[in-house]
Amino acid sequence: MSALLQLTGIRKSFGDHEVLAGIDLDVSAHEVVALVGASGSGKSTLLRCINLLERIDDGRIVLDGEDISDPRVDADRVRARIGVVFQQYNLFPHLRVIDNVTLAARYVHGFSKADATAKGLELLERIGLGRKAHEYPDRLSGGQQQRVAIVRSLVTDPALLLLDEITSALDPELVGEVLDLVGSLRAQGTTILMATHEMAFAREIADRVVFLDAGEIIEAAAPEAFFDHPQHERTQRFLARLR
Ligand code: ADP
Ligand code: MG
Repeated sequence: MSALLQLTGIRKSFGDHEVLAGIDLDVSAHEVVALVGASGSGKSTLLRCINLLERIDDGRIVLDGEDISDPRVDADRVRARIGVVFQQYNLFPHLRVIDNVTLAARYVHGFSKADATAKGLELLERIGLGRKAHEYPDRLSGGQQQRVAIVRSLVTDPALLLLDEITSALDPELVGEVLDLVGSLRAQGTTILMATHEMAFAREIADRVVFLDAGEIIEAAAPEAFFDHPQHERTQRFLARLR
């Protein structure tokens, strides 16, 4: 069976700085892959390329059999199939929670107000934030706001969820509720590619951990193998610095 997401030979430079130096990675349906690596190793750039926020210089990105790196594809249509959540949750402060959750689905992805609202409310209920649907974001904690941002990314029923360091802007006591939500998405079979610096979480939730260094995949393995028996010297050094 072919992978849900297939990255082949992805290259990306900014000026003469090569940030992605030929990335090959497959993510299977229902798989959770944790992308780890030092700051500046290219994790965010890779996720942005997959979501077509950056154009790749070379390589191919295939989602569910479709070459989405083809310049002729409609990026908005592709993005409806790829949910993305960033470190900064970027909710619009002047919009109520439910309107934040449904905005892109309605105005970019062509959902009717009724459908988007029904789906948004159902998702908010499911994560225990149904009662906050008509509040403004500043009435919610940072953890609740980030959970709303996750819900927003799910309204279009994406095939793939990209998470970029989604807990790193949160106070430590708010991290758990966000990670718990990711865990429950995993349990529902969501396919997730996530950049994270939460190694304990990666170990617990990921099916595979992929280590990126200077825009190259150095090592990819199941969490136990990756953390307990890293093969590559660069991986060992990275892990040693975290201890
Ligand atoms: P990570 O998410 O692993 O910290 P990034 O993908 O954000 O890494 O960045 C990788 C490298 O690419 C860094 O050196 C960063 O400065 C550079 N970079 C990222 N985005 C841009 C951009 N838009 N223009 C120029 N350089 C960039
Ligand atoms: Mg980053």
